[in-house]
Amino acid sequence: MQPRPLQKKNTMALQFWNTLKRKKEEFRPLQPNRVGLYTCGPTVYDFAHIGNLRAYIFEDILRRYLEYCGYAVNHIMNITDIDDKTIKRSIEENVSLTEYTRRYEKAFFEDRDILRIKPATLYPRATEHILEMVEIIKKLTEKGYTYQKDGSIYFSIERFPGYGKLSGIDLSSLKKGARIESDEYEKEDVRDFVLWKKSKIGEPSYDTEIGPGRPGWHIECSAMSMKYLGKTFDIHTGGVDNIFPHHENEIAQSEAANGKPFACYFLHCAHLLVNNEKMAKSKGNFFTLRDLLDKGYDPVSIRYLLLSVHYRSPLNFTLEGLEAAKNAVERIQNFYRRLRLIPGGITGVSPVTENVDQAITKRIIQAEKEFKEGLDDDLNMPVSLASLHNLITDFNPKLEKDAINETESNLISNYIKEIDDVLTILREEKMELTAEEETLISERETARKKKDFAKADAIRKDLEGRGIIVEDTPAGPRITRKQKHACLAD
Ligand code: AMP
Ligand code: ZN
Repeated sequence: MQPRPLQKKNTMALQFWNTLKRKKEEFRPLQPNRVGLYTCGPTVYDFAHIGNLRAYIFEDILRRYLEYCGYAVNHIMNITDIDDKTIKRSIEENVSLTEYTRRYEKAFFEDRDILRIKPATLYPRATEHILEMVEIIKKLTEKGYTYQKDGSIYFSIERFPGYGKLSGIDLSSLKKGARIESDEYEKEDVRDFVLWKKSKIGEPSYDTEIGPGRPGWHIECSAMSMKYLGKTFDIHTGGVDNIFPHHENEIAQSEAANGKPFACYFLHCAHLLVNNEKMAKSKGNFFTLRDLLDKGYDPVSIRYLLLSVHYRSPLNFTLEGLEAAKNAVERIQNFYRRLRLIPGGITGVSPVTENVDQAITKRIIQAEKEFKEGLDDDLNMPVSLASLHNLITDFNPKLEKDAINETESNLISNYIKEIDDVLTILREEKMELTAEEETLISERETARKKKDFAKADAIRKDLEGRGIIVEDTPAGPRITRKQKHACLAD
């Protein structure tokens, strides 16, 4: 029997809890098979804490699952490299804003790679989109949504009737014309928010058509999402703390400027907690990824812990929880390794000669169905992970008794490899390279060390033509083989 090609098509509709509608809705993208996804990125004023990383892992699972379902995802994540916090810290350290923020931008990309988060399609920086922000503010002014006060420009929320539709805030106690200049504030402080802040001595300032100054935080994300995804796009995400005021303000200024809906689906992940309090820099109750790596924890266990709880459930972080995640990951990795050790069991390349026990095929189909049903239901990861652990529980006794043949082992390990496109928790396998490819890679390394970047780039291009991707990381070059994109749904 031939190994069964696994079905990627959804049997049940993919559904998400849409914060905007306060209910679960079937996901229907604006264009068939394509998704425009905007995820609020890091404010690069310090190392990310693992609460921030929970949000990025949730977004990684969302992105990877959409791709698993066959969608081509255009994923934009901004870098907030100008705001109250970045400016304050760079002034304290007496370095330029660029020098200061690039340091933490680099650290963010390192954390991303360590946690196996798939790079976004693009990471636009706020400081490189000032003109786009100015254009939106000009349009809002022409349409009468703004006013000036003491050299800053504010958005008047009472002129936008939809204000509050995302967060459901109560506007009845709103004091006409009360404003707030800081980027972050609480619901109790609902007021007109700042679009453009007047320049202050010692702060970065841009000379623009709307006067000298710098942008408020919220306008940054409106400008960058619209530029790369269009005025109306599919999905916008962040942590629940982004609902108010950040996303509420993004909606107000974008929809007021465009006269069109902004994002169709808003998804927000719950917080990572410590002793039942939000993990936050300001509370001092945080761990960075580096803190945990220094304690000897493995990045894949951290990834597993952060993805294993439903994204809308708060997750209380403990080191015991991290230990449990480590055990769960090892169980999956060991099961996969033992399957691969079955003689001749090289996934997908060996000729199929042996008979397959139909019960095994059925069991894989059932596991795949449960895995998909879990994630189709608003990314219910606990259900999907349970389907994998139950499969392992059912097959482990057979493995013990050497009762799984080569073809069967290929079927099971193919399935696990396939869902690992979403989970990304298996041990990285050593890539098989030809002697010629090995030589090219080492020639490129030599060229790079000699700073002959033209030659290094030419070899990289050559390798790319052979389907081999070389990325330079702090730990040396990372070599991967180009993945074939998942087939698109009809
Ligand atoms: P920031 O760099 O502060 O703009 O935050 C980056 C992302 O992390 C945003 O999507 C926040 O909503 C999210 N975030 C911040 N703290 C936590 C937390 N404790 N748990 C989960 N997500 C968080
Ligand atoms: Zn944002």
